[in-house]
Amino acid sequence: MNLDRLKPLVPNINILTKEYVTIVGCGALGSVTAELMVRNGIGNITLIDNDIVEDHNLQRQNYVQKDVGKPKVNVLYDRLISINPNIKIIIVQERLNTSNVHLIQSGLVLDCTDNWYTRKLINRYSTHWIFASAIKNKGMVQYLNKKPCMECWLETDSEEHCEDLGVYNAITHIIASIQSHLALQVLTSSCDNTLYHFTLPGKIHAINTPCKVECQGCFSTPLLPKEQVQRVCHNMYKTYTYIKGEFQQNKQYTLFKDGTIHIYADNKNVANTILSEILTN
Ligand SMILES: [Zn+2]
Repeated sequence: MNLDRLKPLVPNINILTKEYVTIVGCGALGSVTAELMVRNGIGNITLIDNDIVEDHNLQRQNYVQKDVGKPKVNVLYDRLISINPNIKIIIVQERLNTSNVHLIQSGLVLDCTDNWYTRKLINRYSTHWIFASAIKNKGMVQYLNKKPCMECWLETDSEEHCEDLGVYNAITHIIASIQSHLALQVLTSSCDNTLYHFTLPGKIHAINTPCKVECQGCFSTPLLPKEQVQRVCHNMYKTYTYIKGEFQQNKQYTLFKDGTIHIYADNKNVANTILSEILTN
């Protein structure tokens, strides 16, 4: 894909072909963010969503009439591949939960969900993610890595839902655009933890969220050696589903209740060595 219009602004844009982004939720935010990430030149994407396209989604989501009734991840896969056939995409037609949470433990995670339960899960299992939400005429976006975490400033779970209160498509597209822009910044240079709060038609607040003392979210976040997690899990996690056991974690691997093992290694050979050591012990 030709990125000549982006290169003057982001000279190192080519590094994105080797980067990984996991998008949790392929609705109003995710279907737009995913497309913008592909158009920015990202090389590897995992899409997680268990929904099918419904007629009322078309008001704001990146789908068309003939997609109704099909899984969102499948439709989005076809669209993203049609934009850039060289991109590698993993689709997971499941809702994110504690048994498949290994999917969000490496690479940059983009929260495009519509509920606080899943966001808390991301907050507690990912150390490198971009929070995003939109409802009615307002929305929020924030890059989060370690502290402060989302639960440092989120005092109570909101009971507000778009299906009851409605949402403008302008705000979901604005929030998705900002989220993908922050992702571009995170992956090519740097990004701080400012929380951006938008209200239509044009009010913007940039907020510095403080670290909360004894925050549950901060304390429960698994300590993942982010530099070592590398990309191995993206290609290998499915290979190691035959090990049974309870959840346990050490510095080299995490074993989940469903039998999946997530190995932290610099490359496939090292991961295989660690795996054979686990199997013989
Ligand atoms: Zn916290």
